[in-house]
Amino acid sequence: MKVAKFGGSSLADSKQFIKVKNIVESDPLRLFIVPSAPGKRNPEDKKVTDMLIECHNMAKKGEDISKLFNKISERFIEIAEDLSIGIEPLLKELKIVEKNIQSDASLAYSASRGEYLNAILLSKHLGFPFVDAKDIIRFNQDGSLSQSETQNLIQEKLLPLKKGVIPGFYGFDDNGNCHVFSRGGSDVTGALIARGVNADIYENWTDVCGFRTADPRIVPDSKFIQQMTYRELRELSYMGASVLHEDAVFPVRNAGIPTQVRNTNDPLHPGTLINYTPQYAGQAPLITGIAGKRVSAPS
Ligand code: ASP
Repeated sequence: MKVAKFGGSSLADSKQFIKVKNIVESDPLRLFIVPSAPGKRNPEDKKVTDMLIECHNMAKKGEDISKLFNKISERFIEIAEDLSIGIEPLLKELKIVEKNIQSDASLAYSASRGEYLNAILLSKHLGFPFVDAKDIIRFNQDGSLSQSETQNLIQEKLLPLKKGVIPGFYGFDDNGNCHVFSRGGSDVTGALIARGVNADIYENWTDVCGFRTADPRIVPDSKFIQQMTYRELRELSYMGASVLHEDAVFPVRNAGIPTQVRNTNDPLHPGTLINYTPQYAGQAPLITGIAGKRVSAPS
């Protein structure tokens, strides 16, 4: 079985939702799906998560969020209308979220509602059950993740459903408070679900065809890395190559589950496969990739 996480640009509008459905339906093993909030549709666009955080900050200062929140609502309503998903339940959810943010909801709750609403829409679009991360991703009250509780809850509540859509990025503690991972943290949710259901592979669908042998801004014709180990990934990420959230590595690596980075806009491209040990059939390349960090010149 496969767990597939789709990033914000992969679910930025209804055209992207259609691509995601095609990808999910092209492989019956893709059973547990983890979406991010809608990302940018073009370079000038705003991420829904950023707008939600802005709403929270405005509400904290006592300002009226309705104008900005309308822009968020429009993003979801447009997706729902384009895909002929009934919008009445969505409008109700949007009203509740707006009211809560306006009346002092926490930053984590506010920031996480993009994933929550997007997962509801995606579950309807795919015809998969919606499983709220609130019920399966468990945080401690200090904001750290409770790994063992999360693992147990996934096995107890998600696995028996055999398939589902689970919003990324957040979870709750025992007192009913919301917590989020750091930015880009839907990757972490995907990895936790992959470990919890003991997936054969964790697919991370994004808008690039994986890691490159060198930064394309410096080496424009650098190639995509087809395979690497988790150790090599750590080295490259440490040196600045950022495709995956760094905390998304541990759950799957320790469980022996490979991660495959793939491109929603180029689904036939194999992407980059990350394994515990090298899997080359022939000879492995001498160098996997090169990354570096700029240091400022000594004065
Ligand atoms: N939506 C969140 C963010 O923008 C989490 C994620 O995309 O993974 O950081």
